[in-house]
Amino acid sequence: MLFKEVIGQEEVKDKLRQSVNDGRISHAQLFLGTEGSGNLAMALAYIQFIYCENKQEDDSCGSCASCRKIEHLTHPDLHFSFPFIKSGDNDSADNYIASYREAILENPYINLLAWYEHLGHQDKQGIIPVNESNQIIKKLSLKSFEGGYKTYLIWMPERLHGSAANKLLKTMEEPPDKTIIILVANDSEQLLPTILSRTQLVKLSRLKDEDVSFGLIKEFETERHLAANLASMTEGNYFLARSLALSAGENNSNFLHFRDWMRYCFKKDIKGVSSWVDDISKIGRAHQKDFLKYAIHLIRQCAMNNYGAEDLVTIKGDERVFMQKFAPFVNHLNLQDYITLFNDARNHIDRNANAKILFTDLSYQVLILLKEANDSIKK
Ligand SMILES: [Zn+2]
Repeated sequence: MLFKEVIGQEEVKDKLRQSVNDGRISHAQLFLGTEGSGNLAMALAYIQFIYCENKQEDDSCGSCASCRKIEHLTHPDLHFSFPFIKSGDNDSADNYIASYREAILENPYINLLAWYEHLGHQDKQGIIPVNESNQIIKKLSLKSFEGGYKTYLIWMPERLHGSAANKLLKTMEEPPDKTIIILVANDSEQLLPTILSRTQLVKLSRLKDEDVSFGLIKEFETERHLAANLASMTEGNYFLARSLALSAGENNSNFLHFRDWMRYCFKKDIKGVSSWVDDISKIGRAHQKDFLKYAIHLIRQCAMNNYGAEDLVTIKGDERVFMQKFAPFVNHLNLQDYITLFNDARNHIDRNANAKILFTDLSYQVLILLKEANDSIKK
């Protein structure tokens, strides 16, 4: 990860670059910052800067062999430890490293809960068990593969088992030569005071709203106004802002699917309907169900609009413009028909119905409802 890919926190970046350029690399450091502050992202950028063979003035080069290995989290002298759901006494983080790489490459602002979800264990609490300390001590005592620093990044040391933490203390006090231990934590109160006193603190503050907003626009092309809203709502937590932006994007794709679908059905454009069915068949069952739920929501919004309950209409922007044009095709005769059709389709998806057949059939039913509504408007 490059420094320029880390959101905001310019002062911290300056200090870190300066310390590396001055050759002051502390052997035990604590990157402390609340959830979504980017402490893990910052630690990764810092490590890459240390290893980069062709450092630029203010960032790693991003293209030397070391940069590439650090970017893929596969450098042989960079080791990771993190909480996991222990399946036996000899279990270690190494058994989950492929999943961990995947999770943090996808989102270096990830929190613990999202990591457990990634492991498929959203209902369990992970730990960094005693055996893990043995692994850390062992790996740090070996020679480095490439002759430079050996680095251990320990993510969420709050979850270190008490004895594991105690075992680590001695290594942190008298580390083997050319060793860096980086702890990345959210809450210093959950760390042993003896650990705190042995680490140099790198403190990240909560992100500024404008930095969160800028990050969302850069990463997801989030619309400026929405990005600003999400930033102020999430109080500098980029993890949260990012998940909200992703689900807003999802809503938008539901809207676009629905709008296109209604247009094809209204025009009785069979070719259009068939290519729409091809698209919707590919998005997976969970998304198809979510789409149908959205369709029910939109139909209900149309009904509210028609009954003069406009203050209950919550949708805005393009969705609202479309809804107002579409609302005349929802009336007291067909409202329940739409809802029953979409609900039944959701149930059929649960029972593994073939998506193409299901959405083709559904399209014909919708086409009939639209035609009837259109005929009654003309009368
Ligand atoms: Zn480089």
